[in-house]
Amino acid sequence: MTAGSTDTLLSHVAEFEQDIDRILISGDEVQAKIRELGDRITEDYRDKDLLLVGVLKGAFVVMADLSRHIRLPLRFDFMAVSSYGASTKTSGVVRILKDLDHDVENKHVLLVEDIVDSGLTLAYLLKNLRARRPASLEVCALMQKPEVQRVDIDIRYKGFEIPPVFVVGYGLDFAEKYRNLPYVATLKPEAYEGLVG
Ligand code: 5GP
Repeated sequence: MTAGSTDTLLSHVAEFEQDIDRILISGDEVQAKIRELGDRITEDYRDKDLLLVGVLKGAFVVMADLSRHIRLPLRFDFMAVSSYGASTKTSGVVRILKDLDHDVENKHVLLVEDIVDSGLTLAYLLKNLRARRPASLEVCALMQKPEVQRVDIDIRYKGFEIPPVFVVGYGLDFAEKYRNLPYVATLKPEAYEGLVG
């Protein structure tokens, strides 16, 4: 690689992170927590047939990292639900965009979520999945915003409690960007300009 192309690469990296305001959870902290949750899940599901259900799109990063810390044979499935679109406020309206590929009856289901805000999405998904009669149904969520949660949900495997701010990174987006940041951060106000409805 020439010096010129290295400079171009570095300026792209700087540009990529220029919208970041404050890092709330560092990449190292996220990884340590994921490892800890993976260990607990490994212990708890030792004799069970585990099915990880990820909620797209946000949970794909947590799913990928978490699953590699679960030292058990397991299966994956995904659901996609509508979230905020290009806005940052919860609407309370949940729409299934993609349903599971497989039946969950009599399976030990662990629902993996990136973040629980109002809790409405998760409450809806739990009710929907419970009706399909899994052998067990638990939740793993990397983050929770307890101050704004509107429904009471038992999150068996919880990563971090965060204040009621809009965050991006580690799977979470704003207008489909920032999902690949290895940490969780807030955005500068300028990053929302022209997009927040
Ligand atoms: P809830 O139904 O709990 O209010 O919202 C859950 C969903 O909204 C999450 O799965 C996520 O897609 C989105 N969400 C909630 N809070 C945030 C946030 O701070 N940042 C981003 N990017 N998405 C969020």
